[in-house]
Amino acid sequence: MNMHEPVTRASVAARDTSDPLGRFRDLFHLPDGLIYLDGNSLGPLPRRTVERMNRILEHEWGRMLIKGWTACEWIDAPARVGSKIARLIGAHADEVICADSTSVNVFKTLSAALALNPDRTVILSTPDNFPTDLYIAQGLIQQLGGRHELRMVDAADIEHHLDESVAVLTLTHVNYKTGRMYDMAHLTRRAHACGALTMWDLAHSAGAVPVDLNGTGVDFAVGCGYKYLNGGPGAPAFLYVARIWQDRFSQPLSGWMGHAAPFAFAPIYEPVPGVGRYLCGTPPILSMSALECGVDILLEADIQHIREKSLALTDLFIQLVETRCAGHGLDLATPREHAVRGSQVSFHHPAGYAIMQALIAADVIGDFRAPDIVRFGFAPLYTRYVDVWDAVERLAQIFETRAWERPEYAQRNKVT
Ligand SMILES: *Cc1c(COP(=O)(O)O)cnc(C)c1O
Repeated sequence: MNMHEPVTRASVAARDTSDPLGRFRDLFHLPDGLIYLDGNSLGPLPRRTVERMNRILEHEWGRMLIKGWTACEWIDAPARVGSKIARLIGAHADEVICADSTSVNVFKTLSAALALNPDRTVILSTPDNFPTDLYIAQGLIQQLGGRHELRMVDAADIEHHLDESVAVLTLTHVNYKTGRMYDMAHLTRRAHACGALTMWDLAHSAGAVPVDLNGTGVDFAVGCGYKYLNGGPGAPAFLYVARIWQDRFSQPLSGWMGHAAPFAFAPIYEPVPGVGRYLCGTPPILSMSALECGVDILLEADIQHIREKSLALTDLFIQLVETRCAGHGLDLATPREHAVRGSQVSFHHPAGYAIMQALIAADVIGDFRAPDIVRFGFAPLYTRYVDVWDAVERLAQIFETRAWERPEYAQRNKVT
């Protein structure tokens, strides 16, 4: 785009016609007229998931019943879906398993990291990490007898606090509020230099930005199935364990699905070699099959195209908001610098909650994160450039008409 030409709806729409990811939008159910900028919280429904769910209900569960575990390869779903997710995050196929929720996987991987670094007592993180990661660390410390400490330091001070006391550095790669992205390679190298392990939460990275776990030498990672992977509400999560650590420790949720021979029904736990020992109980086959459909779609796209379009969409959104909504008190919370930006744009605004409610009423879905963040996710597979234009026009209207001041928009919902 020529920087000196004025940006118009037509010039923005023209970018959609030459978009190499343009064909993917039709693979999703997206209600007419709705601009969905919340795929970072819950991805939309892929059309093929509907077909897959019908088939699995009628043919597999309905007709095969228990034979499905073998005949329909349900038993292999955690490893199969994990190996597909591995390709999205730069891991070997045998380093990722699909299981449980992100929170539970944080517990398993942090347990492993502490056990593998037994002379050290500190879990290093930041106070703005996603709360569940911090809560799970606190619960784990209590479980281990209170010998460990969760040390929370500002992002800018992390390197300063990497010393011989740190067992594991745990961070969320892309911050859920601001969209700021850490330099995973650099911080992992710094952690290793002081003898600490790393556990990265990829909830806002997998399927959204390029990740290279093997290339950066990460030890452990977890991530979410229902955000950019489009696995559906409460989809199973995933976890990654680098090969070198897999057989050195067996995680504490030592359920039968992680046993070397679950159907030997032996009384003594013996973990299966490899990442399979991070399974606990029976996998949720319906949910895992839905997740697999979402992951398959992402594997058909080029992650470099996803990254380029993500940056173009977020650049355009920032530029248009700052011109069309100038003077209305929005303060950019997301970095302008590409290298440290994930796939979302957030603004501070003291009336952020009411503004987002008014915007949702105008069919633009983003979300609100306390205390004052309005947040917009840009998933390049189904978000068009023209959606960015239209979303900003509706936002500008809300400011111009002061629609957000209506009392009903101040009512807090349980889920924001
Ligand atoms: C969404 C999210 C989670 C969610 O965890 P659940 O166990 O699925 O509720 C965890 N960590 C981060 C960073 C997230 O953004």
